Amino acid sequence: MTKLSLDKILQSQGFGTRKYCRDLVEDGEVSVNGEVVRSTKMSFETAGLQFHIFDEDWEYRERVYIVLNKPSNFECSRKPSHHPGVLTLLPEQFSWRDVQPVGRLDHDTTGMLLMSDDGPFIHAQSSPKRHVPKVYQATTAEPVTDELVSLLLQGVKLHDEPAPLAAVHCQKLDEYLIEIVLEQGKYHQVKRMLAAAGNHCAALQRTAIGKLTLASLDIAEGEWCYLTPAQLGLLV
Ligand code: URA
Repeated sequence: MTKLSLDKILQSQGFGTRKYCRDLVEDGEVSVNGEVVRSTKMSFETAGLQFHIFDEDWEYRERVYIVLNKPSNFECSRKPSHHPGVLTLLPEQFSWRDVQPVGRLDHDTTGMLLMSDDGPFIHAQSSPKRHVPKVYQATTAEPVTDELVSLLLQGVKLHDEPAPLAAVHCQKLDEYLIEIVLEQGKYHQVKRMLAAAGNHCAALQRTAIGKLTLASLDIAEGEWCYLTPAQLGLLV
């Protein structure tokens, strides 16, 4: 059980500095259970706390775990250089909370991007030791052949990798569409593997991480959702 004053709660949820959050409370901008709370002396149990601010309902979250359906032309980098950063697609409270992408997708890759402000979670999810399968659908420039599928399954040599890299699963979905499942997350891995196998990636989408699929989340490109504990359990 953790009890905190409303200004501390707002600050922890990314609404701004302590002083700004105190002003928000004292100015009557925040309500709890339908009642405006102007006191920063009252304490509230944080677990499950619902509050209302700036015309929106919020629930207290100690840590944030979300999936963004990333559109093309957004960068995962903290300091994007050529395109807007993915954080611009999320409420600004998440930037204050230091929500970050878990791993990276290229600026032109679309699909499932996990994001969180839980450092140990980010670290564990990104660890190369975990071998979490990541599922990609690549649109190819040349038709998908049986030979392409077998080459990707056998492993292809990339110039800066000591050993060939192989897909753990791979199948043709359509004449120009291939599904590739990887357990590593090397730089431009899908694109470079396709090029090394004699084809070219024209478009790339990540459709699943572990057993959690993008389709099951039902979020349009550019939208995001919180993950439930059950959904987090599928990320293995
Ligand atoms: N492989 C790539 O080539 N790009 C990505 O964004 C992800 C995997």
